[in-house]
Amino acid sequence: MAEHRREFEWFTEDHTGDVRLSIKARHLYGEDTPFQRIDFYECDTFGRFFTLDGLMMVAERDERHYHEMLVHVPMSVARDPKTVLVVGGGDGGTVRELVRYPGLARIDLVEIDERVVRLCEEYLPGVASAVSADPRVKPIFEDGVRFLKEAPDAAYDLVLVDSTDPIGPGEGLFSRKFYQDCHRVLKPGGILVNQHESPFYETYAQSMRRTQKRLREVFPVSGVYHFHMPTYPSGMWLFGFASKGLRAVEDRLPDAPAGTPAMPTRYYSAGMHAGAFALPPYVAALLSDEGGA
Ligand code: SAM
Repeated sequence: MAEHRREFEWFTEDHTGDVRLSIKARHLYGEDTPFQRIDFYECDTFGRFFTLDGLMMVAERDERHYHEMLVHVPMSVARDPKTVLVVGGGDGGTVRELVRYPGLARIDLVEIDERVVRLCEEYLPGVASAVSADPRVKPIFEDGVRFLKEAPDAAYDLVLVDSTDPIGPGEGLFSRKFYQDCHRVLKPGGILVNQHESPFYETYAQSMRRTQKRLREVFPVSGVYHFHMPTYPSGMWLFGFASKGLRAVEDRLPDAPAGTPAMPTRYYSAGMHAGAFALPPYVAALLSDEGGA
């Protein structure tokens, strides 16, 4: 059902049983898609933002923190990548950062919910515009779990899993079987980066430990890196970095363009790349023992 309301209200998201994020915002549009509830808002501090099932997804003010760190870390390590698979990422921010690399030949975007893409093109064009504008981008509207199961071996240089949390349609994107399929579809030298939750609040930390344990069981190189994400629970968020051999920091290309005048960025830099993998002792401890299911 489409709704158009313009008065200010408080958007509130529960982060834990006793912690919430509230933003004074105007609701722009809402719709029940076949997969989830999507709502668009605008506010003074974070600009426009959208939520899925009431959870913050993308806000104009801090989305570059997320999309730059998701894309430019692996793209500064991979050796002459040509093909990239993005799973999820319907807002288009990940694709926007990928199309800045002229050497890429193909970007497959496997997003389960086409309405996320179409509505982000309408309400967040600064984030979503590359999806339809760049001929290298091929949107594929299906479940990423099924797509990976059927995808051919050694088809991609990078797999970027830009998913929701491991609940609802996103749950299957955190399974061991899914990571085994990611490993199979990656070429030698391939890299997987995935949305890897957070170490600060207990429920997210449990999910982080489970995810890292599964990645370690599948990939010879595996770790996490952190970045600042004010609109996400606790503000400290992680990506997982897993590869068939390349190391995230030691093997970073010295002439990687991201963060230089050739490819200006707001959050990513060579220094941030290296620093992101320096984990606080409490995070390293959470990841050291083989905890989690
Ligand atoms: N940055 C956000 C975060 O960290 O939660 C996620 C960005 S993007 C909006 C997440 C996308 O994953 C959504 O558009 C959702 O529809 C999609 N998605 C969830 N489960 C999926 C699945 N099984 N296959 C493909 N896309 C999926």
